Amino acid sequence: MPAGNGTESLMIPAIRNLTITGHARTAGRIAIPDRAAPATPPQGNICTLSGPRRESEKQSIYAVKDVVSERLIKYIIPKTFALKGIPVRTVFLNGQYMAENEARVSIFDRGFLMADGVYEVTSVLDGKLLEYEGHTKRLVRSLNELDMARPKDFDALLDIHRELVRLNKVEQGSVYLQVTRGVADRDFAYPKDAAPTLVLFTQSKPLLDTPASRSGIKVIVIEDLRWGRRDIKTVQLLYPSMGKMMAKAAGCDDAWMVKDGFITEGTSNNAYIAKGSKIITRQLSNDILHGITRHSLLEYAREAQMQVEERPFTLQEAQAADEAFISSASTFVLPVVEIDGVPIGDGIPGTTAKRLRDIYIVESRKRAI
Ligand code: PLP
Repeated sequence: MPAGNGTESLMIPAIRNLTITGHARTAGRIAIPDRAAPATPPQGNICTLSGPRRESEKQSIYAVKDVVSERLIKYIIPKTFALKGIPVRTVFLNGQYMAENEARVSIFDRGFLMADGVYEVTSVLDGKLLEYEGHTKRLVRSLNELDMARPKDFDALLDIHRELVRLNKVEQGSVYLQVTRGVADRDFAYPKDAAPTLVLFTQSKPLLDTPASRSGIKVIVIEDLRWGRRDIKTVQLLYPSMGKMMAKAAGCDDAWMVKDGFITEGTSNNAYIAKGSKIITRQLSNDILHGITRHSLLEYAREAQMQVEERPFTLQEAQAADEAFISSASTFVLPVVEIDGVPIGDGIPGTTAKRLRDIYIVESRKRAI
């Protein structure tokens, strides 16, 4: 796009306010907005980065002129921010990798307006994905249950997960994935032709040696006021958020929920008790999320000759149990040492929870991809 006086400028559609300017084939500059700007931005809220003009740098920039460059989006922008001490992740949005602060989703997206979206969280250990297949299968199930189309990048999901882990150098943490029904004028009825929105991003955080894994967690018990399709992993997480806040206010870590006198699950995890040689956890139904960690954990427990009972249990039974614990992708297995103010067993993490945590970590690490 000629801009007069021998320079060219090119707007990159995926990146609002990002302009590449420079003489057609002899110079190149990248301009980026706001947070990375020097004290006095030369043109409005767009600033020009200056730096050594090495040949290799010029070539990188020129590559951008012809294609909306993956290289620019994936490497140069995040690196530029990182050099200025601003950590910027590379995220994935609808077919493109981009800097996190450049990713934009419409205000008409039904995920935003109606919580009309589903998600998955896949943990990363040693830079590898845990339980990837299980999470993808559940994602497909959630999409099918809601009659939601698969995004066009669906077949490439594994590659996208791996690429984000690589680009963001995640050793321990997670990849979050969300699919919404897409952008359409607000209406309760599902739109006919909306293209699904697909978002993925990473979070780096310690998973193995955490304070909660050493000391266990304390939970309160609250009524389960969620909708009746808790088996679908939707983004409507307000009640679980309220539950976590109620737990915090009570000086605890989490909340277990009760429906019709029986524990359903934790706000973001499945709930278990252990009594004698038995592990007890609620059976699968629409009342709970079918945890991917739960599925593997029960398999490993059975392989280790532990007795598993899948049935409902009450708060009283839990408080009288030898042990209690939770499972989820991001916590693996965590001991619960207190329920509604009552210490469980000796009030310290028990051996069954510890053993299951160890087995789970060893086995899922072996199968990581
Ligand atoms: N139950 C609920 C309500 C959850 O939100 C989660 C995870 O987010 C789980 C259980 C555990 O599922 P998974 O083991 O697949 O992480």
